[in-house]
Amino acid sequence: MIKLEHIRRSYVSEDIETTALADINLEIAAGEFVAIMGPSGCGKSTLLNTLGTVDRPTGGHYWFHDSDLMTLNEAGLAQFRAETLGFVFQSFNLIDELTIEENIELGLVYRKANGGNRRKRVVEAMDRVGISHRARHYPNQLSGGQQQRAAIARAIVGDPRMILADEPTGNLDTENGLQVMDILASLNADGATVVMVTHSPSHADMAQRRIDMLDGRVVASAARAI
Ligand code: ADP
Ligand code: ADP
Repeated sequence: MIKLEHIRRSYVSEDIETTALADINLEIAAGEFVAIMGPSGCGKSTLLNTLGTVDRPTGGHYWFHDSDLMTLNEAGLAQFRAETLGFVFQSFNLIDELTIEENIELGLVYRKANGGNRRKRVVEAMDRVGISHRARHYPNQLSGGQQQRAAIARAIVGDPRMILADEPTGNLDTENGLQVMDILASLNADGATVVMVTHSPSHADMAQRRIDMLDGRVVASAARAI
């Protein structure tokens, strides 16, 4: 169980305060697939970055199962992220100078695993997203859909309990977007908690629950009708 209690996040620059998250109260069950929607600027990315512990709230509490993550220092949070989370972004964020398999292995950087085991994990992750035939290619030799599948392989190679995806289909055409959604749904079916920001109502409908945000708050939370 993941629980956010009275999470606030504001930015101050040149004496002007912007409230990105006003008061977020949210519970996410282990193994749930949640979609987050809302207009541009309502705080979706800030919420996802808070869940990912790459953005520190101004106030409130973040419980991840039995851990109070607000009590961890930077090193503790880095370890938490490496062991527990996988990140997927709208713009893929692959490193152009590395091959696809080298990019994917980066997902294991903070993992203690020997060479043979690392190799096995990379091969399995590539298989899982159907990118094995592109292992030795560079990102700019791949289509957008292939790059995003490779980015998902990098996110899952360490077997994370929670996948955080910020508009993962935002740069993809319909067919490639659906491929990415199918992969996320299948990872969720195998037990991963998935939290995804999306602008696509049809992709949000593939999640178990849809959360709508407005002005830094959750204004609606509805389970999918079955
Ligand atoms: P969304 O993802 O829904 O578009 P964001 O979480 O990116 O919204 O942003 C929420 C609000 O916080 C916006 O008003 C945005 O301008 C502001 N904001 C986000 N990041 C920063 C930052 N680093 N500095 C100042 N303001 C920011
Ligand atoms: P897949 O066979 O994995 O479904 P796609 O349908 O995404 O591949 O792409 C078809 C072919 O076109 C692939 O061989 C892919 O590498 C190539 N391709 C697509 N877009 C680009 C691009 N922007 N740059 C280079 N090659 C591309």
